[in-house]
Amino acid sequence: MSPQHEAPVTSGGRKDLQADCASCFGLCCVALPFARSADFAVDKAAGQACSHLRTDFRCGIHERLRDRGYPGCTVFDCFGAGQKVSQVTFGGTDWRRAPESARAMFEVFPVMRQLHELLRYVAEALDLAAARPVHKELRRALARIDGLTRGSAEAVTALDVNALRGEVNPLLLRASELVRARVPGRRKDHRGADLMGAKLSGAGLRGASLRGALLVAADLSGADLRDADLIGADLRDADLGGADLTGALFLTQAQLDAARGDAATVLPPGLSRPAHW
Ligand code: SF4
Repeated sequence: MSPQHEAPVTSGGRKDLQADCASCFGLCCVALPFARSADFAVDKAAGQACSHLRTDFRCGIHERLRDRGYPGCTVFDCFGAGQKVSQVTFGGTDWRRAPESARAMFEVFPVMRQLHELLRYVAEALDLAAARPVHKELRRALARIDGLTRGSAEAVTALDVNALRGEVNPLLLRASELVRARVPGRRKDHRGADLMGAKLSGAGLRGASLRGALLVAADLSGADLRDADLIGADLRDADLGGADLTGALFLTQAQLDAARGDAATVLPPGLSRPAHW
């Protein structure tokens, strides 16, 4: 939830998989619910416009989100789903001008976001030279998902995204394995591990699988995370100060934005150093 935020250059260079808030009707600030917490200053129901959303669909407190108690808005990435729903699914007619379509628009957005997230991972895998043995299947998956995102609002909302993810995940896993197999030595497997608050300062995690690992508040300062697979890893408040993330796989800007780091953290190309580091 961050209209006007700087879109990271990820997703295999595909602009349509990067948030373009100027082409979106502020969907993340309306469609999604949030609860009063350390991430959001107030409660908001799904379908209710945030009180800070301006009439031009921009955020009225964009420059002060963290100070005003909305850090959760700074770590959200729609992967380009917002502009797809606004401009493609609904043809550029916003929910204020056509309130009768508002509900359908807000329902389709979270589904589209999941589809775009999948597309983003597949696009990244297609950029990995070592994953060439699965590129043909990945290209097929990309075309299929891309086609699904262009369906009607009803068709997109009715999709079984979990089933689709179940079909695509083995390809992403295979791509990851092909890349990490090139890393010398024994690679650690922390897939889905609960590493909340773990002391991993300076750890050798090169080529490790950290897929879906819970790394909330983990100390990863100075860790070697080169070529590590971080898909879906929860890095909220993790300390990445001085860590080396060169070649880290499936790392998103939102994951970085949710973590802590410093000027010495080495980032993969295409991801930017969060302003609050
Ligand atoms: S505070 Fe700003 S970015 Fe966050 S939901 Fe409200 S309008 Fe959107």
